[in-house]
Amino acid sequence: MSDTTPAPDEGAKALLQTAASRLKKAVPLMLKHQIPTTPTNYALWYAYVGEQQPELNKAMDDTLSRYQTCPPVNGELLYREFVADPVELDVRDMRQNLEAMAAELANQLQDTNLDAAVFQQKIDANFNRLERIESEGVSLEQVLDLVRSLVKESDTIRQSTSYFTGQLSKAQQEISALKERLAASERDVLFDALTGCFNRRAFDADLQGILAQAPEGTCLILADVDHFKAFNDNYGHQLGDQVLKLVAKRMTDACRDGIKCYRYGGEEFALLVPKSNLRVARQLAEALRRGIEKLTLKDRRRDAKIDTIRASFGVAQWQPKTSAIELIEAADKLLYEAKRLGRNRVMPIQG
Ligand code: GH3
Ligand code: MG
Ligand code: MG
Repeated sequence: MSDTTPAPDEGAKALLQTAASRLKKAVPLMLKHQIPTTPTNYALWYAYVGEQQPELNKAMDDTLSRYQTCPPVNGELLYREFVADPVELDVRDMRQNLEAMAAELANQLQDTNLDAAVFQQKIDANFNRLERIESEGVSLEQVLDLVRSLVKESDTIRQSTSYFTGQLSKAQQEISALKERLAASERDVLFDALTGCFNRRAFDADLQGILAQAPEGTCLILADVDHFKAFNDNYGHQLGDQVLKLVAKRMTDACRDGIKCYRYGGEEFALLVPKSNLRVARQLAEALRRGIEKLTLKDRRRDAKIDTIRASFGVAQWQPKTSAIELIEAADKLLYEAKRLGRNRVMPIQG
């Protein structure tokens, strides 16, 4: 939390300028080294010319001097190590696995169909021979020969089919396991692992969505646990984690009428209150503040009760023509005020 962030317009302008100047550098370099213009490569080269990660630049420079370009595999590895978001990578990997497996199954299915078609041709040929045997009257030896040939062909097709069935059920098991992991990863994309609240990613997406569809009356409550660093120092990180879980539960339990609670950062939470007004949102924050004051937990090491959990709140209502960033900054400023005035309070004082 800080009040030194530049005004949103300036911030956005500066970001655009940086992006434009980085792209101006990145694109000619990519052309020079004949790098395909995929999103991954753009992201990688954008990071490279940004020169914010010396290790990335060193690794890229080494690759370039060695190969005179950045081969796709090296590019992918660098992207994974220095640029990509791990959760997204996980989801992407699993998608690729699923796709690869579907392609393999399709191939096997085709192979089996081919075997079956060949078998059909052989049977047809044998039936022709059978007709000839009937009409021309041939030897027992020739009949036995025909039977042997039919048995052999049917054995081949049976083996191929049973192999395929085995592969199919194995693949089905793998697919359901992967699907489960994919669903879990997609949950990770939206939820915070420690508290079970929605996460910052979900917050950004929801706020954009609300402001695009029905911004009128949207309120944002930002909450920050007071003196949490000292709490961790006194009681240990594990009890600190318990506090975050308790606070998150208290907040999510209060969520109704479309209100959602998010873990905004380490010990910071956000509540989005759609179609409401400052007075109502402020009252909710006040109720949460009092609820958090009542939270207790046990310090087993010292056999003592902890009842000193407090939090400060900043509440802001969306104003016409303001952006998501401006709404966040307004709430953040009020939260900062609440801290400055002594913590354990909601700002503004009145809605
Ligand atoms: P203030 O009242 O001004 O907010 O003071 P503060 O100590 O709460 O604020 P500060 O930003 O200095 O410290 C935040 C602390 O929150 C530091 C960090 O270790 C702790 N923290 C952040 N995430 C977690 C977490 O997941 N678990 C635990 N136990 N602590 C966390
Ligand atoms: Mg904080
Ligand atoms: Mg804090």
